[in-house]
Formats: sequence, C-alpha cells, structure tokens
Amino acid sequence: MASDTQIRTYIVGPIQTNCYVVVSKGHAIVIDPGASGAALAKELEGLQVDAIIATHGHGDHVGGVRALADATGAPFWIAEPDAERATHSGSPGGLGIAYDDDAPMADRFLEEGDVVTVGDASFEVIGAPGHTEGGIVLLGEGVAFVGDTIFKGAVGRTDFKGGDAAVLARTLRKLKGIIPPETVLLPGHDAQTTMAAELRSNPYLQ
Ligand SMILES: [Zn+2]
Repeated sequence: MASDTQIRTYIVGPIQTNCYVVVSKGHAIVIDPGASGAALAKELEGLQVDAIIATHGHGDHVGGVRALADATGAPFWIAEPDAERATHSGSPGGLGIAYDDDAPMADRFLEEGDVVTVGDASFEVIGAPGHTEGGIVLLGEGVAFVGDTIFKGAVGRTDFKGGDAAVLARTLRKLKGIIPPETVLLPGHDAQTTMAAELRSNPYLQ
C-alpha cells in the first residue's frame, strides 16, 4: 500500500454494513456508506472527499450516500446496471428493511477497467455481477473491496431481484484469476479475510 494511504472501517446501519474510507494525502473516497451519512461526513471533516462509491445498489450499501453527498459535495459513482436500484433502495419493501434514504442518481457510471485514484492510491474497477447485475470489486494497494460478492467462508445471496447464481459463479471464477492470493479482502459485511484463505477454504471458490 502506498505509504501515505490509510483504510478506515465504519460499521453502519441495521445489518452492520462495512463502510470503508480510503484516505491519502488529505483526500478520501468512501465506499458503501450504507447509513449514517451525516455522521460519516463529520468523521471526515478536514478531508477532501473525492467520491462516494457503491459496490452495488442495495439499500444497506447506499442508504447514507445522499446525506454524505449533501454534506461533502462529493459525487456518487456506481456501475450503471445498479444505478436505478440505488435511487429507490431506501423505500421499505425491497429487502424488507427500511434504510436511511434513497441514493441520488449517479454522477458517473463505473465500468470494468476504470481506475479510481485518491491521493497516492489507485484501485481498478472489476465487474462482478451475480449478487446484483451491477456489482463491482475495487482492487489495488494490496486490498480488494469485494462488496457482497465474497464473504469470509461464503458468498453473497443470489435470491434477491437481480441476483443470479450462475452469473455469480462466473464472476468468482474470474476473480480467482485476477485477485492475487496475498490480497486482503474487505467485504461488505463481517470480517476481512485474504484471497489465499478463501481459495483454501471457501466452498464457493473450489
Ligand atoms: Zn447486497
């Protein structure tokens, strides 16, 4: 990891979403602010928030986007297939849980191969559909933000609207070929792990 780069984790919302903030050279990007956007903005006072990024459009990952964007002026980026979902994910019903707020329409659609930079750090966007149509992984600096695609010992559910087990299986095969084993995986929920540990013991990666 670039020496000036730091990753902070905030656990937010009713189903304990991991919100990650990458800080480098006074700049920050926020990944999956699922709730508590105003409180996150307060935590990040003094930093220039360059972008708010969602790994996918579920309410528990985007519920805090609007308040955080309003407070910081940062743009909101997500892959196009999930952008529409993010704008109504705050409505109760979708997943049976009420989230903070709908996300605003995206300011930019992230695509496979895009590179997101913050200060000295950079991350490549990898398309990772399966849990939703527009899931992405951000890979760089020795870590991968994997959203709800891979968890420690498990993978994301595919029984929600837009989920597809066969598509997820294809994504997992692709990620096995792209993510180096020593990479620390930072999932959208629960504990971090490494690609090596998941290659060894995650039944979905065998
Ligand atoms: Zn999800």
